[in-house]
Amino acid sequence: MSSIRLDIVTAEGVVYSDEVDVVVAPGIEGQLGILPHHAPLMTTLHAGELRVRKGEEEFSLVMSGGFLEVRPDRIIVLADTAERAEEIDIARAEEAKHRALERLSHRVPDVDAARAEAALRRSLARLKVAEKRRKRKTSVSY
Ligand code: ATP
Repeated sequence: MSSIRLDIVTAEGVVYSDEVDVVVAPGIEGQLGILPHHAPLMTTLHAGELRVRKGEEEFSLVMSGGFLEVRPDRIIVLADTAERAEEIDIARAEEAKHRALERLSHRVPDVDAARAEAALRRSLARLKVAEKRRKRKTSVSY
């Protein structure tokens, strides 16, 4: 089976760089599946799960938005932030979610609602990916 290089980069550096078989990214119009030889493409990604399959291995990252470019020889993901599912700090994401909900519930003039909504989306995306991972781990151990 053919593969394609995937580079996931944030402002902090390269998060992942390897040959992969399939990428499923959180496109703004829905899940976007990319196989080798996909047509060139540039699109925006929103906060959500990015799934990668490489041979028998499959793993998820959560990203908080960014851009994806498909070139003939590689897929480049420029992410605002990206964490592997196992790196997600659930307590931190819960706190971020509660902070954002608190800010949104008061709607005082000095609260930037768009910023709070973006923080809420990031925290929900992290919690969803962490929960999926937890369920997968539980079902494997039985
Ligand atoms: P917080 O308010 O907890 O900082 P945030 O959504 O504002 O959350 P970001 O600005 O998206 O945080 O990310 C800042 C840095 O912290 C990034 O490097 C990101 O990967 C990391 N990060 C944020 N939340 C988590 C988390 N729950 N688990 C692991 N890493 C996280």
